[in-house]
Amino acid sequence: MPPRHHQPEALLETLSTDRGRADRLTHTEHLPARAARYAPWPQGIRAEVVEAAAALGVSQPWTHQAEAMDLARSGRSVVIATGTASGKSLGYLAPVLSALLDGTEARNGRGATALYLAPTKALAADQRRRAAELVPGRVRVALYDGDTPGEEREWVRQYASYVLTNPDMLHRGILPAHPRWSSFLKALEYVVIDECHSYRGVFGSHVAQVLRRLRRLCARYGSNPTFLLASATTAEPAATAERLTGLPAVAVTDDASPRGPLVFGLWEPPLTENVGEHGAPVRRTATAEAGHLLTELVQAGTRTVVFVRSRRGAELVALQAQDQLGSPLAGRVAAYRGGYLAEERRALESDLQSGRLLGVASTSALELGVDVSGLDAVLMAGYPGTRASLWQQAGRAGREAQGALAVLIARDDPLDTYLVHHPEALFATPVEATVLDPDNPHVLAPHLCAAAAELPLSEPDLALFGPSAAPLLPVLERRGLLRRRTDGSWYWTRRERAADRVDLRGSGGNPVQIVEAPTGRLLGTVDAAAAHTTVHTGAVHLHQGRSYLVQDLDLETSVALVERADPPYTTAARDITSISILSTDTTEEWGEARLSFGSVEVVNQVVGYLRKRISTGEILGESKLNLPPRTLRTRAVWWSVTEDQLLDADIPVDQLPGAAHAAEHASIGLLPLFATCDRWDIGGVSVPLHPDTGLPTVFVYDGHSGGAGFSERGFRRAVEWLTATRHAIAACECERGCPSCVQSPKCGNGNDPLDKAAAVRLLGILLAGAPNHREASGGARPNDDARATTTDQATAVRAGEEQPPAERPAVEQSAAEQPVDGSAG
Ligand SMILES: [Zn+2]
Ligand SMILES: [Zn+2]
Repeated sequence: MPPRHHQPEALLETLSTDRGRADRLTHTEHLPARAARYAPWPQGIRAEVVEAAAALGVSQPWTHQAEAMDLARSGRSVVIATGTASGKSLGYLAPVLSALLDGTEARNGRGATALYLAPTKALAADQRRRAAELVPGRVRVALYDGDTPGEEREWVRQYASYVLTNPDMLHRGILPAHPRWSSFLKALEYVVIDECHSYRGVFGSHVAQVLRRLRRLCARYGSNPTFLLASATTAEPAATAERLTGLPAVAVTDDASPRGPLVFGLWEPPLTENVGEHGAPVRRTATAEAGHLLTELVQAGTRTVVFVRSRRGAELVALQAQDQLGSPLAGRVAAYRGGYLAEERRALESDLQSGRLLGVASTSALELGVDVSGLDAVLMAGYPGTRASLWQQAGRAGREAQGALAVLIARDDPLDTYLVHHPEALFATPVEATVLDPDNPHVLAPHLCAAAAELPLSEPDLALFGPSAAPLLPVLERRGLLRRRTDGSWYWTRRERAADRVDLRGSGGNPVQIVEAPTGRLLGTVDAAAAHTTVHTGAVHLHQGRSYLVQDLDLETSVALVERADPPYTTAARDITSISILSTDTTEEWGEARLSFGSVEVVNQVVGYLRKRISTGEILGESKLNLPPRTLRTRAVWWSVTEDQLLDADIPVDQLPGAAHAAEHASIGLLPLFATCDRWDIGGVSVPLHPDTGLPTVFVYDGHSGGAGFSERGFRRAVEWLTATRHAIAACECERGCPSCVQSPKCGNGNDPLDKAAAVRLLGILLAGAPNHREASGGARPNDDARATTTDQATAVRAGEEQPPAERPAVEQSAAEQPVDGSAG
């Protein structure tokens, strides 16, 4: 290959000055290079490992790796939270493999064992390769997942000393069968939890309880493993590790790996001629813009990866670039999505490394599965949801010497729009904390059952499972799931397997199977919670870039029958939601306004759907549906303002529903900036007069039974969160509201009513009474302009008579989308 001379500044300059695009580049950030720092190998790392590392080109570890190795050798649980390509795996592998080598000298050859957990099968397969590079065959490394053949499983249980699996398999396959794993568990010295930032929300809470079950069994077998966690850079990594494992952990965060300079551009696609709902202006999509930029980068010979949020989007970006490039360059662009075989991924990796491939459009699967770094450029079509992922993706670009380019292309939504206009929210703030809530009783209950089935639960076990455990046991007893014996311990009473009662990645209820009617082929599944909105009869369902029409949703059998079709429209469910407050945990007075956090019950009924023309968003018609209401008990943050405040803010009674609804939409869009959720994890309701508060009230709730920690985070960071929300709406250049500010893609009310200007005034009056300074507990502090928010008062107008609650309170449907990556297990 000839040497490449891609100066990142020059590249960005060309992209942005060509064809009058200067206004699309909203910000350029220069991140300087960082030099490497080294430390000697710590005591206790075996010579075999040191030699193998030297053969791989590592003569000395970086200081953060050495620090982690030292802690691990001394039996301290540690979380390594450093950037991409900072050698986290060597940091934990060196002590683990050294201990396993020591263990081979035991009489049975298995004096020490270790368990490795990754969120995906692909990562576990990568781990096997890495471990094999670092130790000779004396340490037996084995994969144990859903694909492991039956005859091999017995061998793994008896002989493997480093077992690589995923939390689902630990939960379903290993813990319930612990007697067969007794010799492995007895010798368990280390548990490695890779990519631990991906254990967040309800999934993370489940994994936390699985780890407590593991720790309990280890204690019974007489082992006390040290936990080694690897994380992307996040806020409060030690606190998160502790929430996940239940054990104190030391964080290693001072990244000593070298980094080349990075030029980071923020990019906003232009407005198009098209109009969307209610005549709103529409921007070019992030994927279309990414396709154009990819084309130009490939033409310049730049090795580029585009990260796209959906598989379909990734395919569209690659197709568009191939079309625009024509032969022969088109052959050097490919799409990549999750679900590829290991050999295919390896081929793609080496093609990118060698430069045979110049452009790849990928879902975040690449981020988890394939080892590619040192690219010339990374484009991100849409904010990947967290700053942690943003840095992980951007980290794929850049080799030590030359420097590289990263560009974030905004999608047409409030969060992305906010970010490309507030670079400080990306570059001047720490990454957010990983949010999980293991004490959620809905999460905990099935794990208590599973634990009792593994070994009867005794009083001293309860502390391990947290404060929710003790009050739950009598409930499970009443339900006939557990029985208390005279010795005081609880037993599992059923014949079925307790572990089968919970799917770590599901959100409750039987998933609905999507079946192709003519062939009977299973296309995939949708969570029960999302089925009513996404696969109701008449819905257009997308699967791997193809569209299907739902012929029938049968709730009895949990099956949606679909057929291939290419209608010129998409569908959007309409629903009615009511919310009631069950209990209030905390309330803060913000002047006259109040902000609260507590438990709520949300009743939602999908009542019909709209058909919208794909090209323009024009509404072609509405159909009614007859689906039963669904009830969700969860956690919520809510705020209310008084009638006097509305008066001060010049919000007459007829503007109030639109103001509250718009504020709710935008606040849902911005919450992911403060908690590691995306807008599909949370829902909201705004009510002009709520019966429980007697006031206009806006609710934002967790879209999972029992809560997931997101709304709690919103409550704790409310000033910053709602300030950013107000700013995002006020700064949008549209006149009456658009997808970049107050319109929501998942509004159950067809984005009606929405009043952008009144929403800014409403948030202004709310924030006017907010405390100016709050303790920042990690995460973003996008703006400090909370103090400048009270200037919108105009002539007061009396807000009329008491308003009955709107017939149709404005609503966000909270539909949990299937994850992009194929799940492990
Ligand atoms: Zn707008
Ligand atoms: Zn709405």
